[in-house]
Amino acid sequence: MNDVSNLHIAVVGGGPGGYAAAFLAADLGMKVTLIDPEANPGGVCLYRGCIPSKALLHVAKLIDESRHAKNWGIEYSDPKIDVPRLRAWKDSVITKLTGGLGQLSKQRSVRYIQGTAAFESSNALRISKAGGADETLSFDRIILATGSRPAIIPSLKLDSPRVMDSTSALNVSDIPGRLLVIGGGYIGLELGSVYAALGSKVSVVEMTAGLLPGADRDLVLPLYKRLEKSFEAILLNTTVAGMKEEAKGIRVTFSSQQGAATERVFDKVLVSVGRKPNSEIPGLDRTKVQVNPRGFIQINKQLQTDDPVIYAIGDVVGEPMLAHKASHEGRTAVEAIAGHKVAFEPNAIPAVVFTDPEIAWCGLTETQAQKDNRTIKVAKFPWAASGRALTLDRTEGMTKLIIDPESERVLGVGIVGVSAGEMISEGVLAVEMAALAGDLELTIHPHPTLSETIMEAAEVFYGRATDIYRPKK
Ligand SMILES: Cc1cc2nc3c(=O)[nH]c(=O)nc-3n(C[C@H](O)[C@H](O)[C@H](O)COP(=O)(O)OP(=O)(O)OC[C@H]3O[C@@H](n4cnc5c(N)ncnc54)[C@H](O)[C@@H]3O)c2cc1C
Repeated sequence: MNDVSNLHIAVVGGGPGGYAAAFLAADLGMKVTLIDPEANPGGVCLYRGCIPSKALLHVAKLIDESRHAKNWGIEYSDPKIDVPRLRAWKDSVITKLTGGLGQLSKQRSVRYIQGTAAFESSNALRISKAGGADETLSFDRIILATGSRPAIIPSLKLDSPRVMDSTSALNVSDIPGRLLVIGGGYIGLELGSVYAALGSKVSVVEMTAGLLPGADRDLVLPLYKRLEKSFEAILLNTTVAGMKEEAKGIRVTFSSQQGAATERVFDKVLVSVGRKPNSEIPGLDRTKVQVNPRGFIQINKQLQTDDPVIYAIGDVVGEPMLAHKASHEGRTAVEAIAGHKVAFEPNAIPAVVFTDPEIAWCGLTETQAQKDNRTIKVAKFPWAASGRALTLDRTEGMTKLIIDPESERVLGVGIVGVSAGEMISEGVLAVEMAALAGDLELTIHPHPTLSETIMEAAEVFYGRATDIYRPKK
């Protein structure tokens, strides 16, 4: 083991990439400084991303289930929504988690500076601290974890409190009567689902032919069918040509492939058209760091940039822009700095859309296999045949395995249904451990659970699923 106790590491950005890196560096004995504008670590994920959205989605699920309960003979009256209390609860979750990270920083003797960093040179930062003072910080290695921010379409930029991005939507200042979500990606659909459950009439507009571009269509279909009922409209192959503020709301002009432009007025509009990497770090031009044409910082498999002392991780280095990818990159970068023989080359980074139903996948997708002209076998287990799904009254789900027909190796897993996000980890493990379909088939799963559908999908591959009858040929 190399002695790293004399290494001083600076980490810029306190999100799930930055704090995971800082904490591991401290655990390995390095001297660590972590810099972020907030009072505590957390980044987008904790302050205005994963955590607040999932807190609100939990509330949305409760409201939807209580409405659905009348099918089971239990009737609740309509919910009374106290918006300030809802907001306060969501904020309390953020405060608890970020405060906990502040504590963990102290316990590990990570020096946390609340401020914004700019490069003076490859080995020194100028930090503008909260409160006004400036500090120059020298270091041996630095990890950039500056994350990303909501993308803006310049032609649709409108300075109005009626136009929200994901950050302002998560603040839940009110429940708009009519809400338009621009962009059918996961953030738009998650936040649209929250507002629909709270009582807004939600429309979503997506310029491509389907929601969640890139995801397998058979996984998206059950979600689409449910959103068709809970949303007022889903406009596909449609773009927003213009937005104008009026006394009563935002007048939006849509242009669809079918031709004629249409107009409608919304109380609020949520623009959710993707995210942009925060690679415009002041003074970065004083280093050898290279940024690619899409704005991502260029790195190698050790997360090292073109400047040997500078590493970069998380959203600022590329897709998928997900918290768990950022954390793993952070840990790999620190290990590389410590001299361990490591590389960031996962076979499966799970993606989860926390809508209802949830959609989750990992490894190879069917869509990608088709693009690559790759021969695969797909084994699907419909949840209509799952006892657990029936007890939940949620049989629209489906579990599928993407398998190499020659080796029988599991290359990818896709799940749509309640709790798909919790289930996908088994798929990630299968792909990473190079499991064969037979391994999943022979692994005894607890009954009755939704996880059994993974085992039964493997049984489908071999044509011998207990809960599916297939006539003999
Ligand atoms: C609404 C929403 C929901 C999401 N839901 C999920 C989810 O369910 N699951 C999931 O995996 N991902 C989710 N994400 C994405 C996830 O939040 C990001 O992938 C993750 O936060 C990226 O982590 P990061 O460490 O790269 O950077 P970030 O979390 O973006 O943190 C970067 C930090 O760096 C700071 N910073 C930037 N520049 C400087 C500077 N010059 N000096 C000092 N500090 C600086 C920023 O202020 C920020 O605090 C969601 C995102 C949004 C917006």
